[in-house]
Amino acid sequence: MSERVTAARLELLGTGTSSGVPVIACDCATCVSDDPRDRRLRTSAALRFTDPQGQERIWLIDVSPDHREQALRSKIARCDAILITHAHMDHIAGLDEVRRYNVLMRAPIEVFTDAQTMTDVERVFRYIFRRHTNANDSFVADLIPHRVIPGVAVERHGLRMRPFTMLHGRLPVLAWRIEAVDGGDGGGLLPLAYCTDVSAVPPEAFQWLGGLQTLVLDMLRFRAHPTHFTVDEAVSIAGQLAAKRTVFVHMTHDIRHAELDPRLPMGMALGFDGLQLPA
Ligand SMILES: [Zn+2]
Ligand SMILES: [Zn+2]
Ligand SMILES: [Zn+2]
Repeated sequence: MSERVTAARLELLGTGTSSGVPVIACDCATCVSDDPRDRRLRTSAALRFTDPQGQERIWLIDVSPDHREQALRSKIARCDAILITHAHMDHIAGLDEVRRYNVLMRAPIEVFTDAQTMTDVERVFRYIFRRHTNANDSFVADLIPHRVIPGVAVERHGLRMRPFTMLHGRLPVLAWRIEAVDGGDGGGLLPLAYCTDVSAVPPEAFQWLGGLQTLVLDMLRFRAHPTHFTVDEAVSIAGQLAAKRTVFVHMTHDIRHAELDPRLPMGMALGFDGLQLPA
């Protein structure tokens, strides 16, 4: 029996902005590209690892509207925890689909996010969280809401997840730092920080962004946007944080993979759907 978390891998299930890429009825160069890396489902990720007792685990970070397709493609057959960054639909709309994992595992699933986001999630998915008010006792997901406090870590399965506040325009969102409780690197992935839908890093957040093996960071497009990092902003912050590897996510159709990826500084890359880290 191993005593530490091993074989930790992060798979990017989706790397696109809220519309996805291609955009419906768009014939721009990216949307008609035949490069599979230019087809981006909505941004979310799966963290797979073997816990200290030797059990394989999968945590989901956000559950996109494309979750069913993502789960089939990535052969996700269980879910041990769901970490949510914020309640925008492109990050939570797939929550209905996770009922399948309840059946497979015969267990409820813990969902971790801050109090405001959980209130929003419970409102959107009222039929899940207030199931007793449904007219029929239908098949809905069985979820355990867990309200986290930014800066305060929670430990499960040998990993420590620490939510911290980033800014998505004026909206506070959660980024997540994930590391092994035993301090190991899980096989080259950890510590990991997952930071999507970000336009500014508050000063208090930097303490959770140091010493990273892996940084997943928002990068929307070239032109300025009020709630997301541009290409230049994302590259600049990534350079400052100096993770061993940085991958960018949440891109629009303004970004063509083959055009931008080779121009990024060393240690930085565009994410694409299905990318597994460490590569
Ligand atoms: Zn988003
Ligand atoms: Zn397009
Ligand atoms: Zn958002």
